[in-house]
Amino acid sequence: MIAPIVRFAPSPTGLLHVGNIRAALFNWLFTKRHGGTFILRLDDTDRSRSKSEFEVAIERDLLWLGLDWARKERQSDRIGHYDAAREALIATGRLYPCYETPQELDFRRKRLLAQGRPPVYDRAALKLSDADRTRLESEGRRPYWRFKLASEEVRWDDLVRGPQHIDEASQSDPVLVRDDGTYLYSFTSVVDDIAFGITHVIRGEDHVTNSGAQIQMFQALGANAPVFAHLPLLVDATGGGLSKRAGSLAVADLRERGIEALTVCALLARLGTADPVEPVAALDTLVETIDFARVGRAAARFSEEELAQLNARTLHILPYEAVRARLAQDPGEAFWLAVRGNLVTLADAAGWADVVRGPIEPAIEDATFLTDAATKLPPEPWDDTTWKAFTSTLGRKGRALFHPLRLALTARETGPEMAKLLPLIGRAKAEARLRGQRA
Ligand code: GLU
Repeated sequence: MIAPIVRFAPSPTGLLHVGNIRAALFNWLFTKRHGGTFILRLDDTDRSRSKSEFEVAIERDLLWLGLDWARKERQSDRIGHYDAAREALIATGRLYPCYETPQELDFRRKRLLAQGRPPVYDRAALKLSDADRTRLESEGRRPYWRFKLASEEVRWDDLVRGPQHIDEASQSDPVLVRDDGTYLYSFTSVVDDIAFGITHVIRGEDHVTNSGAQIQMFQALGANAPVFAHLPLLVDATGGGLSKRAGSLAVADLRERGIEALTVCALLARLGTADPVEPVAALDTLVETIDFARVGRAAARFSEEELAQLNARTLHILPYEAVRARLAQDPGEAFWLAVRGNLVTLADAAGWADVVRGPIEPAIEDATFLTDAATKLPPEPWDDTTWKAFTSTLGRKGRALFHPLRLALTARETGPEMAKLLPLIGRAKAEARLRGQRA
């Protein structure tokens, strides 16, 4: 395959959430797999809703996820290119001015529906003469512009959905330019995809319906359409869209709740695919397995419980180097290997660091037994074998042996293997705790 060029094109009108970063992730994984280029394009032509703080947040969230880009473009910087493409379409008769008000269009739509006919735009504006247009403009009307669809069936081979066809004869000519001269996304997107040499458009299924008209726009502007891959949308456990809860499923929110970036990527890369959801210790693992043919057609069910569980499973396999910079006071690899299997979020590690470093207040269940145990602690140096050697001298078995020891040494009911914790706690603190002293 020639090196693909792809883009992730969010509008900076809100925060990234699990729904829209799925497209970002697939774009990124695909370029890594095939040695391509990932472009971040900010679709910010809607000036009233686009905000620079959202642009900053989008970049921060993508970088946190590990999804870096080779090039960044803002549509608001490219208006001249859209103007030129608009003129080219007008010159070939593919873009035509219309003057209906929204109320007039609404009235016509309702009348067609009442007659049991599809509410397709009737192209009345195409029949206007120059004189009609001059009169309408003198009445203060300003034109908006529609793309004249060729009435044909548009076909493409979608990498996810397989062969697709849309009969454009049954569609309304899409509006590309509003009456205030601003452009609609479906048009600016095509102009940019041509300009940047985009080879693959990887995006959410909500854009399938745009694709037929967009393919015609590529052709009308003298270009070949890219390959399309439309990913099924994510739904919640009840099958409903995630958009209502997008706020709570914002990337920033997941990060604050202690979800690892790798967890988010691992879940979104595999959800709704033929491959099981598994924790990964690096994005590279996901790169190797990305394959659109393995993405199912059905909506993928996203569940926060699954995310939380996968987060724990991710932490359980992360090597020390992957987390070291985020752990306070560099607690050492042995500490990490001892506690990682008991974490739900990385922040839980701090609690275990307190147990290892102390001081903690031991919980005493059986003082006589524990004081006796304190006298039987072997001399240091200690290692993974010390715990077994120590506990085999105490004359008890099972819970009666382990439970009071764990409570005294860690002040917790459950936790990491004591064989690994004991050497980290060390003899002095272990002895003091067994004697009921804060240490
Ligand atoms: N700005 C569009 C969106 O956020 C981009 C869609 C596309 O990838 O073509 O939905």
